[in-house]
Amino acid sequence: MKFALVIPDGVADEPQPSLGGKTPLEAANIPHMDEIARLGIVGQTDNVPASMPSGSDVGTMSLFGYSPLEFHTGRAPLEAAAQGIELQQGDWAVRCNLVNVTNERMTSFTAGQYPSDAAKELLTILQRSQCGDSHWKFHAGVSYRNLLIYRSRGVAAPFTKETQSTPPHDITDQEIAPFLPSGPGADVLRELMTESRSLFEQAAVNQERLRNEQLPATQIWLWGLGQRPAFVPFNQRFGVRGAVITAVDLLRGIGRLLGWQVVEVPGATGYLDTDYAAKGRYAIETLSRPDVDFVVVHVEATDEASHEGGVHEKVHAVEQIDQHIVGPLHSWLKSQGDYRILVCPDHPTFLRTRTHSHGFCPFAMCGTGLNPGGEVGYGETAAAASGHVFPAGWDLMGRFIKG
Ligand SMILES: [Zn+2]
Repeated sequence: MKFALVIPDGVADEPQPSLGGKTPLEAANIPHMDEIARLGIVGQTDNVPASMPSGSDVGTMSLFGYSPLEFHTGRAPLEAAAQGIELQQGDWAVRCNLVNVTNERMTSFTAGQYPSDAAKELLTILQRSQCGDSHWKFHAGVSYRNLLIYRSRGVAAPFTKETQSTPPHDITDQEIAPFLPSGPGADVLRELMTESRSLFEQAAVNQERLRNEQLPATQIWLWGLGQRPAFVPFNQRFGVRGAVITAVDLLRGIGRLLGWQVVEVPGATGYLDTDYAAKGRYAIETLSRPDVDFVVVHVEATDEASHEGGVHEKVHAVEQIDQHIVGPLHSWLKSQGDYRILVCPDHPTFLRTRTHSHGFCPFAMCGTGLNPGGEVGYGETAAAASGHVFPAGWDLMGRFIKG
């Protein structure tokens, strides 16, 4: 049997006055998602535990069948996996932003979208300052998004699960002092952050940016730390071999750690201009391989539209997903024999607040062995009325694959 999961990121939303009281999903023309609802089951799933911040890393982990309460150890380990950095027992990954702090306030958590080549130079300077210490390894990523790895080499790290850190994007324009790392090992992180201030002040790349009236990176900001998550591989847990298509690094990382193939699609941007049709073609091509039973297609555009407060952009994005991904993928699956297909977002992203939210997401699934439940279409209202509720979102995957 072949399986497909399509994730319109953050598509779940509230009724919109500008859409006559309908949600974007209900206002959109999505005949293929509606067909899945008609042929199968519609319901609600809660993917983000109340105790955790809402985001794609937490929401998709649930969707993939793993409780984030048990398996989510931080963002940095997932990003490390996406970059192909292997964490050993006892190692820690720490997200290392290049930021601009002016007058002790977080002026820019991206240091003015710091360019990658200049970032690389700063990371080299940081690494040189750790010369003689074999535990710390800085890894340049893209732009301001970099990583710091603690290699244990038999020496336990000073951190624990109680070590607290704050994402710098949550404290824009605020004073940084109350948000510095705290808990076990926080002194080490603070020290590295302080050290970076004087190193960056003298760095030639920063001097040049100042001359060009661009924001310099004044220091690093360390956060999102964690150890390698102890995932049981997906194939072992569910008996199907997976692959994932996404433009988002965190999801690549989760995919790698679950033992999935990560399929790169040219033209996949993670934005509203993404090449939807290419994603649809690659989904079919990937699923037609003999060594793939299950494909995940993740599309970020619906989430981006919500962050920008673009109601019509959001409706348009989900219509594109329906037309260019769900439609072709479903008709191909029908032509192949036994199959199941599931559509579900990872978390709601409200147009009203322009940010990720907690709460239920609507899902629709159909295929072999899934009997129609008398639904007429896919959307939040139908999902709430259906009676199929997964308060622990990670239970849905077992139902989809095996139920
Ligand atoms: Zn998301």
